[in-house]
Amino acid sequence: MKFSTKAVHAGVSPDKGYGAVMTPIYQTSTFAQQSPGVHQGYEYARTHNPTRTALQNCIAELENGQYGICFSSGMAAIDAVLKLLKPGDEVLCTQDLYGGTYRIFTKVYAAYGINFHFVNMMANGEWQKFINDKTKLIWIETPTNPLLHIIDIAHVCNFAKNKNIYVAIDNTFASPYLQRPLTLGADIVVHSATKYLGGHSDVVLGAVIVNAKEIAERLYFLQNACGAVPGPQDCFLVLRGIKTLHLRMKAHCENALKIAEWLSGHHRVKTIYYPGLTSHAGYETAQKQMHMPGGMLSFDLKEDTKEAAVKVLERFKIFTLAESLGGVESLCGHPATMTHASIPKEEREKIGLKDSLIRLSVGIEDADDLIEDLKQALDT
Ligand SMILES: *Cc1c(COP(=O)(O)O)cnc(C)c1O
Repeated sequence: MKFSTKAVHAGVSPDKGYGAVMTPIYQTSTFAQQSPGVHQGYEYARTHNPTRTALQNCIAELENGQYGICFSSGMAAIDAVLKLLKPGDEVLCTQDLYGGTYRIFTKVYAAYGINFHFVNMMANGEWQKFINDKTKLIWIETPTNPLLHIIDIAHVCNFAKNKNIYVAIDNTFASPYLQRPLTLGADIVVHSATKYLGGHSDVVLGAVIVNAKEIAERLYFLQNACGAVPGPQDCFLVLRGIKTLHLRMKAHCENALKIAEWLSGHHRVKTIYYPGLTSHAGYETAQKQMHMPGGMLSFDLKEDTKEAAVKVLERFKIFTLAESLGGVESLCGHPATMTHASIPKEEREKIGLKDSLIRLSVGIEDADDLIEDLKQALDT
């Protein structure tokens, strides 16, 4: 089945009760039993909920995975994956990670004896030398946040194969429409469904998708045992958002490419970070593993100061200055003070995250209007 058809139909079928075409919101904490232990598959809503089941099956299918496990947020999904590890285990991860991921690694799990190595996993990186027999997890974001570096997923998975190391991909920036890491050899896919999957900036939710039964069973156990489950209303909103995922992603990507090309000619712009530009170091890999280059882009200014970036950000009229990404509306942000403020300045500089960096989550408005907005904001 093609992706567009899956986006509309995956995981859902008319409801058994009254034939509702849209999956009902099962707003209940418990389910009646005919006799002790005799029920229709649902006992208590932390353990299972039919709205959540539909979403889990839907997301699994979109990622070409066997099992989907949903959580109350992207961070709760990441937290569950980290609970697959034991003290003494080592994790190799990409450098410019989502700020919250960096925070849970360094401020939560480091204290439980898990060691994290932040390494350059791009083609020119020497990440392989950090692998030893304690390495249990390789954690990848691609495209990375906010510098849009591209990591070759199949290449890393090939290297990790038969070494008893899980490869996990945070696929939030790409969405399964653009990139399906399980098909490229990854063991675990993580999503902040808050972003493109939900797509309308109205819900916080997370998901993990896997193929291996033993990982799935452990994650379902952790979902129930630790309890960071999403509510049925939130599951419904993500199910509803996913129905237009393919249409939205196409519009996000087309607009982002137009904007990246326009910014390339602007006298105040120093570097543009967008994997759809042939000048981008990850262009070839992006062409190979992604269907389109995505809706996120960043750029820094020739005048590399926080003040210069702040002035531009304050002038936007259509782009809203806000955290988050992946909604239908265009957002802009200043990673150094917003999404990546939890990464110390020295660390930010080491990875090339400049104080004048501006990140755009390009929405699905008309590209001409968005470019007009950028023009007036930059031409101070
Ligand atoms: C937002 C985000 C997260 C965290 O997700 P929440 O739903 O906000 O908890 C994780 N990874 C990436 C890449 C994100 O953008």
